[in-house]
Amino acid sequence: MFDLTTRDIKYLSGVGPQRAAILNKELNIYSLHDLLYYFPYKYVDRSRIYSIRELDGTMPYIQLKGEILGFETAGEGRQRRLIAHFSDGTGIVDLIWFQGIKYIIGKYKVHQEYIVFGRPSAFNGRINIAHPDIDPANELKLSSMGLQPYYNTTEKMKRSSLNSHAIEKMMNTVVQQLHEPLPETLPPAILNAHHLLPLTEALTNIHFPANADLLRKAQYRLKFEELFYVQLNILRYAKDRQRKYRGYVFERVGEIFNTFYAQNLPFELTNAQKRVLKEIRRDMGTGRQMNRLLQGDVGSGKTLVALMSMLIALDNGYQACMMAPTEILAGQHYETIRSLLYGMNVRVELLTGSIKGKRREAILNGLLTGEVQILIGTHAVIEDTVNFSALGFVVIDEQHRFGVAQRARLWTKSVQPPHVLVMTATPIPRTLAMTLYGDLDVSVIDELPPGRKPIATIHQFDNRRESLYCSVRRQIEEGRQVYIVYPLIKESEKIDLKNLEEGYLHICEEFPDCKVCKVHGKMKPAEKEAQMQLFVSGEAQIMVATTVIEVGVNVPNASVMIIENAERFGLSQLHQLRGRVGRGADQSYCILVTGYKLAEDTRKRLEIMVRTNDGFEIAEADLKLRGPGDLEGTQQSGVAFDLKIADIAKDGQLLQYVREIAQAVVDADPNGVLPENEILWRQLKALRKTHVNWAAIS
Ligand code: ADP
Ligand code: MG
Repeated sequence: MFDLTTRDIKYLSGVGPQRAAILNKELNIYSLHDLLYYFPYKYVDRSRIYSIRELDGTMPYIQLKGEILGFETAGEGRQRRLIAHFSDGTGIVDLIWFQGIKYIIGKYKVHQEYIVFGRPSAFNGRINIAHPDIDPANELKLSSMGLQPYYNTTEKMKRSSLNSHAIEKMMNTVVQQLHEPLPETLPPAILNAHHLLPLTEALTNIHFPANADLLRKAQYRLKFEELFYVQLNILRYAKDRQRKYRGYVFERVGEIFNTFYAQNLPFELTNAQKRVLKEIRRDMGTGRQMNRLLQGDVGSGKTLVALMSMLIALDNGYQACMMAPTEILAGQHYETIRSLLYGMNVRVELLTGSIKGKRREAILNGLLTGEVQILIGTHAVIEDTVNFSALGFVVIDEQHRFGVAQRARLWTKSVQPPHVLVMTATPIPRTLAMTLYGDLDVSVIDELPPGRKPIATIHQFDNRRESLYCSVRRQIEEGRQVYIVYPLIKESEKIDLKNLEEGYLHICEEFPDCKVCKVHGKMKPAEKEAQMQLFVSGEAQIMVATTVIEVGVNVPNASVMIIENAERFGLSQLHQLRGRVGRGADQSYCILVTGYKLAEDTRKRLEIMVRTNDGFEIAEADLKLRGPGDLEGTQQSGVAFDLKIADIAKDGQLLQYVREIAQAVVDADPNGVLPENEILWRQLKALRKTHVNWAAIS
């Protein structure tokens, strides 16, 4: 068997050192193996010829056969272009080039038969094709063309004539050399059980599909393998960690929990809350350390679940700690939890940066003696001076504000790592969570408490401000409060701040009888908190803010959320912002204000927001619209983008399927020694070497 990984790309015929350098730099392709794993992004059926009469400007790539009637140039400067009038007898299309005009004129002759390939579009009633591929008709054997692969290339590559065609040719040379099969990367048992193509056949057909069916099978095999190893890697780490760290065993549900349940619980738990509590209880009883991500839309009742889990820790003689990203949030959690525990003999304390001196000392002491049973706070709780007598359970609210390293610091506060529950209101599609958060188990609260009025979302153009302010005035007269949010994007921070300041002055003028507060990210924390507090206390009726309010503030009396320049926000951000209202008993409104001219995908985003309040539906839509690369929270983890062929947005089911297979492997072979799995562990080791992200999973 021959090893492609050691064959340098520069020795492939037609490559050489110069092109090799470009391939190294642009695509990270060094060996024949790297090249072979550079997959096409699409295939075009080149067995069919269209006639010009059929074209309507909406079709994807098509082929035409005919002749060039003549050339002309038009336009000046950057608009300068070459037009070839091309006819097949049924009509005429314009082939257009903006670059390489001289070269094109020299290369293609009038009245010769060519096959033209490209994407037609309609302009001023004529069909044109920009930068088409052209081949002399006699050189192309249509019957053998079938599905042609297309490869992504960069501008730099194109400048050195390394276009898709060139890659295709190189690929063909490599595939022709595969006389013997490549070393298999999945064990026979898995190949057989799941009807997967052998590796070599899959690789051959992914580049040059013999037919559509084999292409499908090749894609399946390669996606399967890719996702399988991602999961095997994660689950393997999880297993290793379980062996390294034992978890506290909380075997009983005792007096504190039961008293709370019987006497203090203000409402019936939703089914989703019950299910999640059960999942958490199960984890805490197994002796392995819990690492669970709790996802639930804004307002779904995560705090209550967190509190009840903490009570189980208390019942087993341990302390619990809850960490929130801002002082306001920590303060709100503290108040909520204190009132929920009213009349019970549980000592809860709040620790933030602004709690100093004697009070701070008393809290720190109470933690050491174990008298303080629940500590709620900001980053202040992970400082070195904070030590517990027996920290058994940690809740982290709004996870993406805390880095992995910060989380890890909590672990060191206890002999064994405490159980960790991470809560986030930014719903992440389950599939993505499984890849991103590695070995975190995921629980989902997918149900809102009963009796909530769904927020009415309205999209409004910014020329209708008057009627908008009218409705705002009515709400304020009824005693409600209003958020007005402006975008803040780093690159244009100055302009954004100006917008915010102008908006603020404008609002103050429009609403002279109201108190208006203002919050943005450039303020000093203390000033910001003070302004927030004005709104939380109800003293201010209107808050003008940038997205700093995104996280968690709870003002049930606020019923209107106006988002200015809504076109500049992503879906999940819009959803987060909207979640600031709709927390009280009154009907709430979210108004998305935009300019009149909107791009297609902006329009789609706004439509989705108007149509649904379901965070998971929105997250899925976001993933589909933007791809995993842009989703909030994904930046820290490159895992999702290492994928060469699988698509987290589309291959969710397959991901779930292979995860179970990988889990079974890890369970059956926890030490990685069974001979039938030898291929797996060897391959995993190799992958960990070449995928930097794989070793650093959260
Ligand atoms: P989030 O998931 O956004 O953190 P919270 O925990 O703040 O949501 O809960 C939102 C509101 O819903 C709170 O006022 C809380 O008291 C209330 N709530 C939570 N669970 C229930 C329930 N099972 N039935 C009714 N109301 C509930
Ligand atoms: Mg919350």
